Amino acid sequence: MIQQSPGGGTGNTERKLMDELIKAWDGECVIVSHDRPSGAWIFIAIHSTKLGPAIGGTRMKHYSELKDALEDAQRLAAGMTYKWAAAGLRGGGGKAVIALDHPLDQQERASLLRRYGTLVRKHRGLFLTGPDLGTSSEDMDIIAQEAPSLVFGRTLEAGGGGNPAPFTARGIFTALETTAQRLFGKGGLSGKKILVQGAGSVGRELIHLLQGCGCEVLFSDIEEETVRLHRNEKGLSFVPPEAVYETACDIFAPCAVGGVLNEESIPRLRCRAVVGGANNQLAAPEDARRLQDRGVLYAPDFVANSGGAIALIGIETRGWSREEAMRRVVKAVRDNLEAIYRTADHEGISTDEAARRLAQRRIDEGAPENEDS
Ligand code: NAD
Repeated sequence: MIQQSPGGGTGNTERKLMDELIKAWDGECVIVSHDRPSGAWIFIAIHSTKLGPAIGGTRMKHYSELKDALEDAQRLAAGMTYKWAAAGLRGGGGKAVIALDHPLDQQERASLLRRYGTLVRKHRGLFLTGPDLGTSSEDMDIIAQEAPSLVFGRTLEAGGGGNPAPFTARGIFTALETTAQRLFGKGGLSGKKILVQGAGSVGRELIHLLQGCGCEVLFSDIEEETVRLHRNEKGLSFVPPEAVYETACDIFAPCAVGGVLNEESIPRLRCRAVVGGANNQLAAPEDARRLQDRGVLYAPDFVANSGGAIALIGIETRGWSREEAMRRVVKAVRDNLEAIYRTADHEGISTDEAARRLAQRRIDEGAPENEDS
């Protein structure tokens, strides 16, 4: 399904490419809207509603090509289908991307978010949203004014669960511990060299947790201020972005952008495992096998980074306290990852394949097994 509000204009070639992407997609539908006042395009990709209404974040950024924004929404929505199913929660897979045409001032941005909220409300029952790259809990408060009860991750003051990053980071930390135990035995993470790519909301929290358990932490980032803070004030070793893949470490933790594990980067890796928070770390499905062939243990991203999603749903719809949410995040990530590593070993398949099978089984069953746990 393509819905387009009047006034939107894309070139014929671009329109054709987008039509192709939608036709080739295995998801349920894509809502497409052009926001005339700001020039932004909005894509709400609904991948699967088999386990419930689609729930996924809203990403807002500039894309050099519009089709990349659509593709991002589609790939991220599919990831959410697996994320909810693997986490054993009743949610469908969806994601929204607001592709900005030009930088907006605060007022223009708030107006765009309100119009976006109206669009979400119009499709009530199909899609619920939360923060993602380029959007914050404060933005969710604005969207929620137009789409009450369809927004997760509002500020604590507005009655929401707040920033999900601490929960996401705790889940990644648990994935790192689980992976380290498997690879290095009892000593686990202690004394291990961990390279964190991206010291933003999630990476920053993760670095803090890693420092607390005696790891040697290296980091990389592209923002000058972030680099300065972590290098000068926190005394961490900085790895320039172009040197990340060939830097020797025990575990590489991608916490910045997607697609970093690809045909070109995987042969350069000098680590025993990849465990991070970025969505869609594999550029293509065959990259899972490439990692396996190189003896690099991969913690599937949609399992390792599920903590924020699990916590927000639990806190906002089930009355979990923050402590309860943290406990559930740790349990869900550890149990799932241990099961995935076992299955991959027994069946000789990649960990990504094992994770997808686990999620698909829960989708096919129609009732995630730990829904009421
Ligand atoms: P963020 O924007 O706060 O941080 C990203 C950081 O990565 C920034 O500091 C940025 O400068 C840096 N960066 C960008 N490109 C880089 C590169 N090439 N090399 C090194 N650093 C680079 O975002 P975030 O909320 O921390 O999310 C990070 C990743 O985790 C994203 O892929 C996001 O989709 C995923 N994720 C986040 C959450 C969450 O709770 N925030 C949940 C699940 C998944």
